[in-house]
Formats: sequence, C-alpha cells, structure tokens
Amino acid sequence: MSRTVQRLRRRVLPNLRHLGGTRLRRCRCCGRLSLIVSLSPGEEVKRCLLCGANLRYELLAAELRKLYLGHLEVLELDPGSPLRGLLAGSRSYQRSYYAPGVEPGTPGPAGSRCEDITRLTFADASLDLIVSSDVLEHVPDLEAALAETARVLRPGGLHLFTVPPRERTRKRPPEEPEYHSDPLDPNGILAVWDIGPDAPAHFDRADLKLDIAAGPEGIDRRVVWRARKT
Ligand SMILES: [Zn+2]
Repeated sequence: MSRTVQRLRRRVLPNLRHLGGTRLRRCRCCGRLSLIVSLSPGEEVKRCLLCGANLRYELLAAELRKLYLGHLEVLELDPGSPLRGLLAGSRSYQRSYYAPGVEPGTPGPAGSRCEDITRLTFADASLDLIVSSDVLEHVPDLEAALAETARVLRPGGLHLFTVPPRERTRKRPPEEPEYHSDPLDPNGILAVWDIGPDAPAHFDRADLKLDIAAGPEGIDRRVVWRARKT
C-alpha cells in the first residue's frame, strides 16, 4: 500500500469528525485568507490549506513579524517549514535538518544542510536568530544544545522555539516513551524531554536567558519560548 493511502487510513479517515472545526480566516503565518482545515481536537492537525501552518507556526510567525528580519542572519532547524516564505525576507536564511550519523554540512532537502544543534558548524557570534518548532524536546543533551545556541548567537540574538507544553520540566524516564510524528522517519521520533513553565530554572545560563514570548493559546496551551543571548 502506498504511504499516502496508509496515511489516509490511519490518520485522516478516523479524524474526519473534527472537520467541523474548519474555519475561513486570515492565516497568521502566510498572511492570506485561507481555510484552516481541522483534523484534530486540538491545534496540532489544524492547518492552513495554503501554507500548512498550524498554531505553533502561526504563533512563531507573529513573533517573527515583530523583528526587523531584513537585518538578521537566520538559521531555522527545519528544511520544510511553513515559515520559509516569511523568513526568506531575512538578510540570510539557512535551513537545516538532522539525521543521526550524517556529517554536519551534508546538503539535504530544499537547499537545507545537516546540522547537529549540539555541535553547529557556524562560527561564534555569527547568527542573529535561530528558529525551531518542536525540535528541542528530542535532543538528549539539551544543555549542550543551549550552550551551542549561546555560542553562535550574537549578543542580543534570539532562539525562538516551541516545544509541546508540559506541566513541568523533566527528562522523560525510558519506561514512559513518547513518540512524535517525523516527516523524515515513519517510525516517529522519541521525545526525551518534557518542558514546562519552569524551564528557565533548569536551563538558564549566564549567557542565555529563557522566557515565554507569547501564549499560552488554544486548547493545546501553546507558547513561544525565547532564549536571549546576553
Ligand atoms: Zn497560511
């Protein structure tokens, strides 16, 4: 059976009852009047028909529009993000993917290149903005990832990110595995971290401070996190 038919049977057909939540409105990501098609009770599979954005990308887009993107050098940790139309207006815009065992710098889909957030190929203080959506909860050495963020960002630079909201921050015990869907892996990808409102107490560093830039919003109580290089 083709992947598309499998996906239809497994993920779309059982969720058609949520289509009643479909709305016509302006998408905050692409800025166009669009159908926001609903296939889930929460916002994760409630997507703009035109750009594919769901709530977490719309929230990120709203924060990005507050910045002078034309002045900023940007890295997004996603090769196929619905933010790419907006971020294309940045001074420079590099997209990356991650695949275990692939050498950082290896070219990938849609002009992206392989990057490991715990050992980026970028020079110290060479970026103004990093954007990631539901990536950091999958990084086992999250402290190393944030240290790399602090290394490559210029002073005042930002890492704007989303993670699935949780009650409190903890490394998930191996006996409670949680897999998220992954466009690069049909088996899904293991979530290593729960990240909650107490994240700054766990991850703040002398050179990187975390706070919540936007939200919570929606049934899923989504927020946008901001890590600022001091
Ligand atoms: Zn859109």
